[in-house]
Amino acid sequence: MHENGSPAPDHPDLSAFEGIDFSTAETRDVVVVGTGPAGWTAALYTARADLNPLIFMGPEPGGQLTTTTDVENYPGFPEGLLGPEMMDRFQEQAERFGTESRYGTVTHVDFRERPYRLLIDEKTPVYAQTVILSTGASARYLGLENEQRLIGKGVSACATCDGSFFRGETVAVVGGGDSAMEESTFLTKFADKVYVIHRRDELRASKIMQQRAFENDKIEFVWNTEVVDVLGENAVEGIEVVNNDTGETRVMDDVTGFFLAIGHTPNTAPFEGWVEMDDTGYIRTEGDSTYTNRPGVFACGDAQDDEYRQAVTAAGTGCKAAIDAERWLSEHGRAEIPQSSPERAPVEA
Ligand code: NAP
Repeated sequence: MHENGSPAPDHPDLSAFEGIDFSTAETRDVVVVGTGPAGWTAALYTARADLNPLIFMGPEPGGQLTTTTDVENYPGFPEGLLGPEMMDRFQEQAERFGTESRYGTVTHVDFRERPYRLLIDEKTPVYAQTVILSTGASARYLGLENEQRLIGKGVSACATCDGSFFRGETVAVVGGGDSAMEESTFLTKFADKVYVIHRRDELRASKIMQQRAFENDKIEFVWNTEVVDVLGENAVEGIEVVNNDTGETRVMDDVTGFFLAIGHTPNTAPFEGWVEMDDTGYIRTEGDSTYTNRPGVFACGDAQDDEYRQAVTAAGTGCKAAIDAERWLSEHGRAEIPQSSPERAPVEA
């Protein structure tokens, strides 16, 4: 029950839609939300199916790959290519077949009935017969003020992207999961020493990944420890840590590179309450498909995958989402645009 005693509505808050005139809003067969490998691939396939997709680029056009240097594990590119260039090529290919790309972020959705209502940047209305969610995930940071200030100046959430800048130096990796093991092991290719700083005395990582890290002479584990500050004006010149057992703080002044490996957060907040998600916000899809629990809404890429998280797997699920959407639309047809009242039935308080 709501605070005022009325039953809680069976959908999220729709107040963002109040006063927005949908009477002249355009209606699209497919709206793709997000422009990483999954989104562009979904757009490519739906464009080739003559569905004239509209894709919104979101706050970080191109997604996580735009913060990467060489991508060497995408099949078909034996010499590798730069992440941003790769995303430009994805875009070019999707547009070649009729994808319409627009800057803007889908900030609110109303998935009560089709055609679904979307708000772009809180103000521009669009109707969508089907929606493909491909908003990806973002690396987590500790949230320390100096950590944020020094991103790109020695603080990084991507060892693969930035590891080579730390040749011969000492770096620290925070985290105790598979990513921390993988990134610290990777960093030993460049750095002379890698600290793995973990807040507990037990790792979450799989045994094999742990073993690999334990056996690496360049890696030193710092247990029961949390980072409380990152030091340095224009570059990392050390970190301040606290021991969780003793409460003792100390400065590790040999650290010049600081890597976060504490997981990712899926960029799914605008869809909360509309499509089913797991406890951490990853969108749940049915079986091997990209169907969400909301008819005509599909999810692909890192927004629904916390396991593989590769460009090629994201592109693969983007393809599946496009095929799912195309078949679903053929079967269910297009819904009528509400005529009489562009604003739908009043939203319950
Ligand atoms: P994860 O398994 O969620 O591990 C995150 C780690 O960061 C945990 O050890 C956690 O500590 C720590 N952490 C979280 N928030 C923190 C904070 N605020 N301060 C300090 N430490 C914090 O994330 P992940 O390692 O990115 O892995 C995600 C998924 O991808 C997993 O399923 C993993 O198996 C998979 N993956 C697989 C591979 C591979 O097989 N090659 C490689 C990378 C990732 P606690 O342990 O104390 O909670």
